[in-house]
This record gives sequence, structure tokens and C-alpha cells, in this order.
Amino acid sequence: MTVLRAGSASDTGRVRTINQDSVLTGATVFAVADGMGGHAGGEVASATAVAALDAAMASTSSAEGLVNAIRSANDAIAAASRDDPSLAGMGTTVVAASLIGSDAGDVLVLANVGDSRGYLFHAGRLRQVTDDHSLAAEMVRSGDISEAEAARHPQRHVITRALGIEGSIDIDLFDLILAEGDRVLLCSDGLTNEISDEEIERVLSTLVDPTAAAEDLVRRANAHGGSDNISVVIIDAVIAEGTGESTAAHRIVTAPAATASIPKRETAAPGIGAISPPPVGRREGWLARRRRLGVQRAVTFRVLMFLVLLVGVLAGAWYFLRWYATSAYYVTAQGGSIVIYQGRPGGVLWFQPKLVTVSPTPLDQVLATRQPALRNDVPEPTLEAAQRYVANLADEYRQTQAAIPPAQVITPTTIPIPTPTVSPPITSAPGAIVTYPTLPR
Ligand code: MG
Repeated sequence: MTVLRAGSASDTGRVRTINQDSVLTGATVFAVADGMGGHAGGEVASATAVAALDAAMASTSSAEGLVNAIRSANDAIAAASRDDPSLAGMGTTVVAASLIGSDAGDVLVLANVGDSRGYLFHAGRLRQVTDDHSLAAEMVRSGDISEAEAARHPQRHVITRALGIEGSIDIDLFDLILAEGDRVLLCSDGLTNEISDEEIERVLSTLVDPTAAAEDLVRRANAHGGSDNISVVIIDAVIAEGTGESTAAHRIVTAPAATASIPKRETAAPGIGAISPPPVGRREGWLARRRRLGVQRAVTFRVLMFLVLLVGVLAGAWYFLRWYATSAYYVTAQGGSIVIYQGRPGGVLWFQPKLVTVSPTPLDQVLATRQPALRNDVPEPTLEAAQRYVANLADEYRQTQAAIPPAQVITPTTIPIPTPTVSPPITSAPGAIVTYPTLPR
């Protein structure tokens, strides 16, 4: 007889504000659902799914019953969408497990829709059982891209199947025959996008208690960034001796701490939306495929408003720059002329100054003291001011020229210079007495 022990954990993560995931560890069924769609829909969709699943499985214990339970969950979400327009377009993934008794023994049946995952941990190794229903995973399966490329693919979060979108739904089923010590992990992509299979293996190898292991996985996903809601259910198989003919329903025991979580509301992640099957018999266009897969329009009203605002700001900046660059004038010497330019000396970005006037006054008819300033450009606020400045230079030069008196012609005059009278030399012998003649009175 197979006995199951289960534990679970679910967390909003470190980026989102609301948890749109729901987990279920019910009496006969276990599940993880990752909701999406609309401003309110995601958490309603996932909670509706697990509640419908739990209710439907209360009265059945067969693989067919599990399929019908998922279909009833699909119907319940679609009905809720119809009843409340604000929930239109909501959907959810679901990966569910239920122990089914059969002639061949107990089988844990896994059912999957979307990109939440079911793993089997057997003999220390983790193996993904379910296939992701996502665009990136489809491209990997078709050989278009590698696993590594899928991990970085911009549409890796776009899922191709979900509950609540279409009236009919394709469900993948997997039968697991469990051995003693096997563990089954159900999780949302918030776990597997953050931590590696190896890290999950280490946790499942070391933490025996399923609730403790689930909580540790969530903690580790948060430590790696927690960019999405993180939900984990761990189901442990205990093979008891002396199998009887009891039903699956009373061969399942659930860890006390594990309960279905009812998450609050959150806006759906971008890029995830309504899913419908591809058209049959004709090639689907790129736009039609985006629409079918619910890829949100790149240009929403908000984006449009942002673009309009951005264009306005850029246009304003351009006009201001042009005004600044062209609203001034300057006078400068250019060759032997005095010229007036509109603009800023040297230009502003791509707005270069424009030649407006060449003055009839040549540079050499400006005072020499003014010429150095002219060669360094003389800014003026208006064209009139610049023209007045040039006119003033010319006036100044003319006035200076007029103030200089005419040159004087100096006629040399002859000034008579009297001829000096020279006295006769007086000679005397050494020691002689010299007697000067008495000057006539
Ligand atoms: Mg998710």
C-alpha cells in the first residue's frame, strides 16, 4: 500500500506584490496553479482551479476522474470570467497529482496544463516528468532553439496552454509508479526559473520533512532573486507492508501544516494572456500567432501616452536649443571687414552661426584700441544692437580723426648771432708782472 505524505509552501517572491499562485494539498489531490490575466484575474483563476479540483476529486479516484476534475476547473474559471468582466481573459496553469489504485498497483497520476512542472526525485536524482506548454519549450522541442537559448528567450513566459481560456482543453497525463523514498515535486516556474536542478536535488536529499523541504526551496528561490511567485508541493511516497484493497482516498495523508493557499490579487505579468489552439490547415501569421497566444500589445495606451510625452519633451528641448543658438548676435573681424553673425560664436551643437551683414566700414577704419575686442567677437543681444555697435565704431573713428589739428608749417627765421670780440692774447714771461690796461670809463 502506498502512503503519501505531503508538504507545501507558497510565497509572493521579492519582486511581485501579490501571490497569484495557489497550492493544494487536499485529501485526494495535490496541485500547483500559477494564475495570470487581467488586473484581478490571476489569483482568482488559480484559486478557482484548485478549489474546483479539490471539490471534483472528492468523489472520484481514477485518472479519468482527475481529467474531469481539471475540465471542471477549466469550466469554473471560464464561468467566473463571464460573470465578472473585470476577470475576462484570466487563466491559470495547473499541475496536479492524485494517487490512483489499479489492478497493477498504485499509480500516482500527474496531469499538466501550462508551464508549472512535475518532477520525480528517485534515487537521489531529479527528473522533470511534465513538458512545459510554453512557446520557448515548443521551440526547443521542434529544434529551433537550444535549452540555453530558451532560458533567455524573450517569450519564455508565454504559455501555450492554460485553464479558463478555451472551452476544451488538452491535458497531459503521466503515470508514476513510486518506490519507497521517492518524492514528487510540483512547482510553479517561480522556483525553476531561480534555482537549478542540482540545488533542488540537494534540498530533497537532505530535508526529510516535506514541508521543511518545500519551505527551504522557496527560501532559496527568494535568495536567488525571487522574481516571480514561488509555489512548491512535495509528495513523499511511503510503501507500507500488507497492501489491502483500500481506495486511494484513504491511503493519502497530508502533513498538518500543508493547506491550500488563497492568494490575494495581482496584476498579471506582461506577455502572458489568453491562449487558444493554433489554426488547422493554414499557416498562421506572426501577428495572428501573437494575438492567439495572448501576447499583449506592445503599444498600450500608457505606452502611447509615454511616447507622446517623450516626443513633446524632445521637441521642446529642440526648440529651446534652437532658440538659444539663434537668438543672439555677435560682431567680429573677418579678414579686413567687420561682420555681424546671428548665433553664438562657435555654434551650439548642430546650430552654426549665420552671416547677416558685412559692414561697409573696413577694419582699418576702427580705432586700433578696438580691434582686439573685435577679433575676439563682441556679443550683442539683437541685430539692431550689433548694427549700432558697428556704427558707433565708425563714428568714433571719424570723430577721433576730426579732433586732430591740421599739420603746422614752421618757417625757419634767421636769428643774428653777434660776432664775439676777441681780445688780443696776453703773453707774459714766467714771473713777469702783468699790467692790464685801464678800461676806458
Ligand atoms: Mg509564475
